[in-house]
Amino acid sequence: MMMQLIWFRQDLRIEDHTALWHATNSGQTIALVILSPEQWKLHDDAPIKIDFYLRQLKALKRQLQKLNIPLIVQTIQLWQDVPQCISSLCESLNIENVHANIEAGFNERLRDENVEKQLHLNGKQVHFYHDRTIFSLGSIRNQSNLPYQVFGAFKKKCYEQLSISLPILFDTPNPQARIKLEELTSYSTVIPQIEDIYPDTVLSERKWKVSEAHTLELLDDFIENRLVHYHEQRDFPNIQGTSQLSAYLNMGIISIRQCLHALFREQLGHFLIQHQSQQTWLDELLWREFYQHILFDFPQVSKHCPFKPQTDKIQWRQDLDDLDAWKFGKTGIPIVDAGMRQMLSTGWMHNRVRMITAMFLSKNLLIDWRLGEQWFMQNLIDGDLAANNGGWQWCASTGTDAVPYFRIFNPISQSLKFDASGDYIRQWIPELAHLDHKTIHEPYAKQADLALDYPKPIVDLKQSRLRAIDAFKLI
Ligand SMILES: Cc1cc2nc3c(=O)[nH]c(=O)nc-3n(C[C@H](O)[C@H](O)[C@H](O)COP(=O)(O)OP(=O)(O)OC[C@H]3O[C@@H](n4cnc5c(N)ncnc54)[C@H](O)[C@@H]3O)c2cc1C
Repeated sequence: MMMQLIWFRQDLRIEDHTALWHATNSGQTIALVILSPEQWKLHDDAPIKIDFYLRQLKALKRQLQKLNIPLIVQTIQLWQDVPQCISSLCESLNIENVHANIEAGFNERLRDENVEKQLHLNGKQVHFYHDRTIFSLGSIRNQSNLPYQVFGAFKKKCYEQLSISLPILFDTPNPQARIKLEELTSYSTVIPQIEDIYPDTVLSERKWKVSEAHTLELLDDFIENRLVHYHEQRDFPNIQGTSQLSAYLNMGIISIRQCLHALFREQLGHFLIQHQSQQTWLDELLWREFYQHILFDFPQVSKHCPFKPQTDKIQWRQDLDDLDAWKFGKTGIPIVDAGMRQMLSTGWMHNRVRMITAMFLSKNLLIDWRLGEQWFMQNLIDGDLAANNGGWQWCASTGTDAVPYFRIFNPISQSLKFDASGDYIRQWIPELAHLDHKTIHEPYAKQADLALDYPKPIVDLKQSRLRAIDAFKLI
């Protein structure tokens, strides 16, 4: 049989892996991963995310070893060198077919097109598979055969498709015979630590454990014990009411199909919604799906362009002090600062607080949402172009199906509603920990001279709200 190459990208698992299944069913398989540190920088990938990736890569290598699949680790700086890298590898190892899962971003697709062109010149075949989404990218279309731009209609279509059947899971490959190939020994199989790549990196904690087994345990724990409360609890940042699976889904340590099958486990794999929380979690998975399809169908969102082009005329404020205060959790608005500090400390932020902080930057501070999007990418462990861009453009009212520009969250009302006890703020802003549950949301409201080692609000919420509405009305 002909030799196959499985090229791992953001799909670091062996279970339910479309490209791996196809490769191993076509012949003896060698695995490849390409590290590209300069490209990661260009894409603003957070150090915590790269560290997570490298740690999972080590776990994947151990799993592949059990299957007798050697993992080659190549390092190049930029993706422009990928075609040459793969092509020479295919030549020297006598590989006939390359298999990989599709990624939706514009640069990713360009990279893959160039690989395909180069390998075709050499008479090799490249096979790309849909794996990252429930439905093939480009396949969810309205009656005019156009992509959906509104989540409600997109979701309805997805429900229709799911009611026909859930997508199938791919079997995990069986161990193959050992590959005895002299040329293999000339390739590196060493996976570096993040400090080897970026020597200045300081990561305070590595709380996010890796491995597929651990991720499946997290999914099981969520489905068995916490899903039932999801609908009521998911908006409260002080409760661990959500799955916290985003980093694992984004790195492909778990597949979206595995999540779906776990969600309908009790219904024996049938699409049957039996309680509100089940539906609500499904809808969140479909928001993820929606933004992946948007990224695929509207490549301009990959290129720092707003989905609604007219919103590029908004006169954003250029205020570096305000931007820095926001970045480092020093705006004087406790719920905003708590969220930003949670992200800086753990690499993750609760969804409700992501919305509050993003709206505060793009509306109350009237600072370009792209600067916020970039800061999130530079710090999130689950940083994902599609979801991050989608979330930011929703909050900034520049995106598809975005919040209307005049519906601006008041962060204090949000704080009172979703962190009524103030415990979330207490956890992330120790300077305010001694305040009672009324004062903590707006410490200087009743007593402007309260002695606190905490800044006063950098902006008046009412005036800044009107300023944002005016800026949007002008375009
Ligand atoms: C400004 C902003 C930026 C965001 N940036 C990212 C990002 O970089 N990466 C990312 O994965 N999510 C992002 N989100 C979406 C959402 O906040 C996270 O997916 C969620 O907080 C992850 O927590 P969880 O895994 O516990 O989610 P759960 O509530 O358990 O949801 C399950 C899964 O559904 C998906 N999901 C849930 N909500 C959304 C959503 N609104 N949009 C897209 N997918 C969703 C995620 O994959 C998530 O893991 C962003 C949201 C906003 C408002």
